[in-house]
Amino acid sequence: MNALRELTKIAARGDISKSTYANALELGGELYPELLGPDVSVLRREREGDIAKEYRQKARLKSIKSGFDISPSNLIGQDIDDIKDLLEVAKREKSERTKVDQLKRRLKTLIDAEREINPVAHSENQLIFRDALAVNREIPALGSGKAYRDFRLPDDSVLRVRVLHPDKPEHITGADIIYERHSRYEEGASIVAIQYKIWEDKTMYLSDERMANQLTRLKNFTCDRTICSQSQGGNTYRFPCCAGFLRPTDKLQRADQSFISTGEHLPICKIDECKTLTARGAELLEYSKIRDISLSGEIFEQLFNTGKIGSRLLAYAELQSLYEEHAIVSEGDTVIIYAQEFSDQPRERIV
Ligand SMILES: [Zn+2]
Repeated sequence: MNALRELTKIAARGDISKSTYANALELGGELYPELLGPDVSVLRREREGDIAKEYRQKARLKSIKSGFDISPSNLIGQDIDDIKDLLEVAKREKSERTKVDQLKRRLKTLIDAEREINPVAHSENQLIFRDALAVNREIPALGSGKAYRDFRLPDDSVLRVRVLHPDKPEHITGADIIYERHSRYEEGASIVAIQYKIWEDKTMYLSDERMANQLTRLKNFTCDRTICSQSQGGNTYRFPCCAGFLRPTDKLQRADQSFISTGEHLPICKIDECKTLTARGAELLEYSKIRDISLSGEIFEQLFNTGKIGSRLLAYAELQSLYEEHAIVSEGDTVIIYAQEFSDQPRERIV
């Protein structure tokens, strides 16, 4: 969820009214229904209001009692119709018109709950980004055989998203974002890859083997290659070209948590500098040791969106061979949310 939410933040250029938790959940439901779809998502269920929960419970018990499958949205739909019907009566009877305030209030509550129970029917207007129709643009891609979705961003560029994930959601141990910003004129892209890892009490052990493997993999893919080295003219004002970041993430404490935590992004290349050893020799990352170097979520988004962090511009041939070599990056037990942003309109270049 955090990964998806921060992806929407980058894509929405930091517009926090767009990158709400609820919006990210809707987008997640579209992109990865097996994990975040309305029928299966535990997060979504937890966030539901009391009325929606009440109807789910009713439907479950009624199904058992009757032996037929009774859906919560049918039940609530019936009650909504009942009240609407009664309100029609009140409209016709002049003396009744002013005596239905409770029914009107109940109707509104039920309609809101119905929307929670059955978001699919309403999701078209709710998705943060509109679907972009008929975008025909061939660009080098990781997992290029996989289906993608194209969205139109507020500034009219296109966001192409693929979600590469293990077949079984229960096997997921982490998430990565790979975000590419394409430059149509230069036939190249700047990329950034972020590895999400849960930490507890703002502390993370690096010794865990799976974790070590994932970090090595990310480093191979980004900073160990030349994509991290700065070869472009020295007249560009920017941060080092590191393209791999570790994103220690707080566990969601409550499902209705609506704030992103400080959102530290630590360059992979700086992990060694920041880690400490415990008395028993285990490697440790602590907030107090990384905070001087890591970038907060907001700063990260702004710097990437203005081209001051991320890899140097990679030519398409280079990007292509990077992905051919690292097809492996799409395997394993992490979800990869793979986003490519480009413009499909020819744009005047200001010289
Ligand atoms: Zn680096």
